[in-house]
Amino acid sequence: MKFGPLKDSAIYIHIPFCDHKCIYCDFYSIITTDNISNFLSTLKKEISFYSSRYSSDRIFSSIYFGGGTPSLMKPEYLNEIITFVKENFTITDDAEITMETNPGTVDKIKLKKFLQSGINRISIGIQSFDNYDLKFLTRIHNKETAIQTVLDANEIGFDNISIDLIFNLPKQTREKWMSNLQVAIDLPIKHISTYSLILERGTILNKLVLDGRVTIQDDDYDAELYEITINFLGDQGFHQYEVSNFTKPGYECRHNNAYWRYRDYLSFGPSAHSFVDKKRWWNFSSLKRYISEIEKKGIAVAGSEFINNEMALNEYVMLALRSNGLDLNEFKSMFGESWLIQKNDFLIEIENRHLAVRSRGMLKLTKSGYAICDEILSKLI
Ligand code: SF4
Repeated sequence: MKFGPLKDSAIYIHIPFCDHKCIYCDFYSIITTDNISNFLSTLKKEISFYSSRYSSDRIFSSIYFGGGTPSLMKPEYLNEIITFVKENFTITDDAEITMETNPGTVDKIKLKKFLQSGINRISIGIQSFDNYDLKFLTRIHNKETAIQTVLDANEIGFDNISIDLIFNLPKQTREKWMSNLQVAIDLPIKHISTYSLILERGTILNKLVLDGRVTIQDDDYDAELYEITINFLGDQGFHQYEVSNFTKPGYECRHNNAYWRYRDYLSFGPSAHSFVDKKRWWNFSSLKRYISEIEKKGIAVAGSEFINNEMALNEYVMLALRSNGLDLNEFKSMFGESWLIQKNDFLIEIENRHLAVRSRGMLKLTKSGYAICDEILSKLI
């Protein structure tokens, strides 16, 4: 047993199964559930392995089921994993337990069972409320199913509901995007993540664009839609606490905040990335390999890196400015003052241009600053 303050950390579990592959997606997932029981027993072995190393000096205040499509699983299955995690780690009584959920994979009965199994936050991958766009994205649901899933989740007792939306889809007009946002804020949700469409290498969408069969709208238009989003959601009481994330008061995602505040997180499952005690490692992105490596060694690590001081400083600044702001006192205690002195002129410049504000020891981007966050970061780090 180690003594000293317990570190507040996060747990991520990657469920690699999907109903089918969406054209824009580069997350690791497979469309067969043949190996599902093998996966569960392997996952437990991996959890046990890391529990013997990391359970004594930390507590965990969030568990996040991502994927893949965790909501494709039987609720009993996630219940078994949650119970096992609780047996192996100290999970706080009020832990946030999130499940990514796809409309079209759940009904009220299933959602109720997920709620009873301990899931207390759901993040619904809606992406669009426009049936044309949903078809283009090859999602399995339509607008009506998406709305019904939110209403069902709310009705059976989920208070903490988040949705994901994608903007700047091909041919998406300002009006169409605005009507997406309008439908969203009329629903009983507490949190919205909005992402600009990104072309990931190796996806079908990327190939369609390279072949000239799909045209992506330009960066200026993307920036315009982003600005519309920030202004509209701000007016509707959704506070922006990260470049892509907006929340009603009190519903910031604890799990995401752990990443953005540079806390430790342990992750399990194929392709999962962990970050603990300034070391980062990632698992094989293949279920077969993941299972065979854990059988042989207890772990399935495909690669790792130690984060040196310079990398840590850059990552810390980037994550902080993209989210709730740079805590200057915490920064000084972690990295000293020399970087701040060196960057002082630029920091004053972005304050004078109203791209950032300094208040109560925090340096935080403004709405205009968020809009050009990447440009600011490229000059800082
Ligand atoms: S459902 Fe989600 S994880 Fe699965 S392929 Fe589609 S976008 Fe990717």
